[in-house]
Amino acid sequence: MPNFDAIIIGTGQSGPALARRLVAAGRRVAVIERKLFGGTCVNVGCTPTKTLIASAYAAHIARRAADYGVRIEGPVRVDMKAVKTRKDGVVAVFRDDLERSLKTLQGCTVYQGHGRFTGEKKVAVNGSELAADQIFINVGARAAVPPIPGLDQIPYLTNSSMMDVDFLPSHLVILGGSYIGLEFAQAYRRFGSEVTVIELGPRLISREDADISQTIAGFLKEEGIDVRVDSKVISVEKQGDSVAVNIESTAGISQIAGTHMLVATGRRPNTDDLGLDRAGIATDRRGYIQVDDQLRTNVSGIWAMGDCNGRGAFTHTSWNDFEIVAANLLDNDPRRVSDRITAYALYTDPPLGRAGMTEAEVRKADKPALISTMAMTDIMRAYERGETKGFMKILVDRDSKRILGASFLGLEGDEVIHCVLGIMYAKAPYTVIQRAMHIHPTVSEFIPTMLDQLKPLQ
Ligand SMILES: Cc1cc2nc3c(=O)[nH]c(=O)nc-3n(C[C@H](O)[C@H](O)[C@H](O)COP(=O)(O)OP(=O)(O)OC[C@H]3O[C@@H](n4cnc5c(N)ncnc54)[C@H](O)[C@@H]3O)c2cc1C
Repeated sequence: MPNFDAIIIGTGQSGPALARRLVAAGRRVAVIERKLFGGTCVNVGCTPTKTLIASAYAAHIARRAADYGVRIEGPVRVDMKAVKTRKDGVVAVFRDDLERSLKTLQGCTVYQGHGRFTGEKKVAVNGSELAADQIFINVGARAAVPPIPGLDQIPYLTNSSMMDVDFLPSHLVILGGSYIGLEFAQAYRRFGSEVTVIELGPRLISREDADISQTIAGFLKEEGIDVRVDSKVISVEKQGDSVAVNIESTAGISQIAGTHMLVATGRRPNTDDLGLDRAGIATDRRGYIQVDDQLRTNVSGIWAMGDCNGRGAFTHTSWNDFEIVAANLLDNDPRRVSDRITAYALYTDPPLGRAGMTEAEVRKADKPALISTMAMTDIMRAYERGETKGFMKILVDRDSKRILGASFLGLEGDEVIHCVLGIMYAKAPYTVIQRAMHIHPTVSEFIPTMLDQLKPLQ
């Protein structure tokens, strides 16, 4: 039985980085990957979707060229094969670099196959059994497919199979009005598809504040996306070349017929075929591996990092998991998951950058707070760029003067949010950023102005 100091299962966002740290510390490491190096983010998540969104943005701006005084003769055409080729090229660079770097890493042995626990410190792969005192699980998650009658009879798409699409669906019906569904919805609308988004809840991305949801729904509808909220999909069926979705809503039962259907109704961890029971590793009822604040499972010497531990669902949370595990194991630095501040972005156009608490969470916590909002129409840079949709909102603790949270829905919101995030990590009062001289013309220069206009949260 080949013995290692450490086994890493999965090459998501934390496993490869940890492998590099461990071999640099002189450990013998085995890395197991069953499919594509780089996992979800690189192959079927962040990288390909943001590459597609960049193509969709180019089409959108080309259609708006006259607004900028630029004449494009004739209609703007999107070549979906070229869009996919560009996307595949970007993904291949990231994936191939990672695969090459792991396979040539001294002290690291790469196994390409499905890893499965056969005991507490043993993992089987391709018929061999590997053993190590330390095992790190980084197996990620996949699209969760809801038990809708008829779904198993039709050729639906998920975020993974969407990556093979090199044609324009004439009518894409998307089940799920949350982060993944909305990014695809806007991109495909801009490519030229008819798009319908069906959401069970009363509004899109229900984790966000109602004003954020409404503004996003507003600009998606303006672009011609059919948004159906409060709509329960009761069954789906194939009708010739179409897929028909039967919906129950307050208006009664209705049917939407599209040419293609994307299921974007959530994620589930890849822990069901990992032999966790053989190692005695505990999961919650949804299959997420239970971990403590330093990402240790209930079994000594086994850690779980990334989406499979249910403590984050982003590339940066998985990367942060790597940092926490490496710091504790190798640097004698007791970093913890609870040290991190919620932060993420939604890559619609304009994007939403989020940090800390939402307004609804602040209200629920019943904290004495101050709030300020600013419309993007008040921001010169947004005017100059001709991109004035959205608004920014910031919340501050009245007594400590610390920033509690921010939602920046507007031009460069995914970047501007980092101004706030830095101050939040520094545990500094908002007055630090209020007094900082920012660069003109930028969106960020209006953060001090917003902070000048804080009012009690009623
Ligand atoms: C469409 C989409 C868009 C997204 N966009 C963003 C974004 O813009 N920003 C952001 O921060 N996050 C985004 N995410 C989320 C992000 O992709 C994940 O949070 C991120 O990839 C972290 O994943 P991970 O490290 O947990 O593992 P993953 O990246 O999921 O990798 C897990 C790896 O483990 C392998 N594996 C699984 N089981 C086994 C096994 N038994 N044996 C061997 N190997 C195994 C898998 O093949 C895979 O390669 C997006 C996700 C999706 C689906």
